[in-house]
Amino acid sequence: MQVQIAGFNIDKSLIDKLDTELATPEVISAAYARISRSSKDVTELRTEAMEELAKARASNDRIIFEMGHSSIAEHAVFNIDIIGISRVLAELIQSVRLASFTEKSQRYVTLDEDFVIPKELDDPKLDWFKKRYIAYSKQLFAEYQKTYDKLLVYYKKKFPKLNQRELEGKAKEDARYILPMSTKTQMGITINARSLENLLRKLYHSPLLEAKELYDLLFTEVSKISPSLIRYTESTGLKPKLRSINKSLPIWKEQLDVDKPLKVVSFTPDPDELILAALLTEELYYGIEDIKELIYDMSWDEQDKLWRDVFEGIQSWHKMPRAFELCVFCFEIIMSESCWAQFKRHRIGTIIKEDEVYEPSHFYQEAIRKVKRTEIWETQIEKVHYFRDQLSFHNEEAARYIRMNTDTVKILAQFNLREIYHFVRLRSDDHAQAEIRNISDLMRTYVRVFAPFASRYLCGKSEFCIND
Ligand SMILES: Cc1cc2nc3c(=O)[nH]c(=O)nc-3n(C[C@H](O)[C@H](O)[C@H](O)COP(=O)(O)OP(=O)(O)OC[C@H]3O[C@@H](n4cnc5c(N)ncnc54)[C@H](O)[C@@H]3O)c2cc1C
Repeated sequence: MQVQIAGFNIDKSLIDKLDTELATPEVISAAYARISRSSKDVTELRTEAMEELAKARASNDRIIFEMGHSSIAEHAVFNIDIIGISRVLAELIQSVRLASFTEKSQRYVTLDEDFVIPKELDDPKLDWFKKRYIAYSKQLFAEYQKTYDKLLVYYKKKFPKLNQRELEGKAKEDARYILPMSTKTQMGITINARSLENLLRKLYHSPLLEAKELYDLLFTEVSKISPSLIRYTESTGLKPKLRSINKSLPIWKEQLDVDKPLKVVSFTPDPDELILAALLTEELYYGIEDIKELIYDMSWDEQDKLWRDVFEGIQSWHKMPRAFELCVFCFEIIMSESCWAQFKRHRIGTIIKEDEVYEPSHFYQEAIRKVKRTEIWETQIEKVHYFRDQLSFHNEEAARYIRMNTDTVKILAQFNLREIYHFVRLRSDDHAQAEIRNISDLMRTYVRVFAPFASRYLCGKSEFCIND
């Protein structure tokens, strides 16, 4: 056996010192592309790729784009800093699932008045709107600061044992609901060339001018380093636009609201039996249907005993076995934009967000009432909503920037039980933010009804011992 580290990501300033065209991830992709068809060992293939970069590029081009062996592009990985973008654009970027993101947190950082003014507002016909947009954004940041100061005093009194950092964290967490989506953020992304092509496509086709600007900057930078791995950045995907639907349908049955934010839309039937049968597939010769019959004939105690075996030795950090993926739950959820910023980061699921932004409600924490800012917030929110409606009549894209964290969105989310375990471990935990924790707790409550055995250890990290 032999193991060789063929490459790893290092800081760009160190790569620049190499001063050579060869410092490109294309070499690794080209060498790996040839593994499947060459009798040479991979070290030799890498050396050859280094020696003949033009040939390596041509080979990438042929294998990835002509033969369709697209996973070759996944061997080239980029680390990208994105600085000074709006939350609106951050959402679009993070809709790519196969990548890693870390973003500046509005929970941990106190935010100065720093917001994006969308280029859409540079149109002289929208001058009036631009002035008001700036004025309202400033008001929202000023209200954030005032509420933060009040909350800090309130939490100091309420939780005298917490340290200053914890108190500030709580105050920031609640105050940020008033901030607009134009708030500037920064993030680090680690992404392979295949996903990066997907991201570039999303940016290219977005109607936001900010997305177009990022597309140009990103495409120029990455195509200098890696011209053979990213090609189809302009091709369109299938994006249904169901224009013929009458959007003013009279009622939304069972409308969710902030007091009842989650419902189960569908779930896999007999989840406990299915998961147990799948686990037993590894042990028994019989087919899954026979094993399920066997389980249906078992008493509660017999099943319980088997489930005890399944969970024996479980620790809070354990991932559930893959058999848990067979059981899928679909939820409809209403949450604030602030909560969505956290929710969307869970990549192993199918998450669909309402596209037309129409909020029947807004949500913020109870503490705002305690510090007597409710009236001020409600007035401010109403003014901004009114302004946004007017602006959206002239320019829908610009209007997205003046949505607030407090505005709600409707989500359809389908997760398998393995991911639900992961989600609930993180989000029903003491460290989780209150709104997402409430959603996670509701999810857990429903899942426990449908899958009482399989969800026996479904709880936040902090509760794990109690539950054990
Ligand atoms: C208390 C708390 C504070 C947080 N603070 C911040 C913050 O300040 N800034 C910030 O940006 N984010 C923050 N996050 C978000 C966090 O970093 C994760 O992005 C988010 O919780 C999604 O969870 P996940 O990455 O574990 O996995 P999911 O996306 O839910 O995926 C589930 C599992 O799949 C696997 N997986 C998925 N993708 C990959 C991959 N590319 N490579 C390897 N394995 C993968 C992992 O095993 C992962 O656990 C915070 C989360 C919590 C709970």
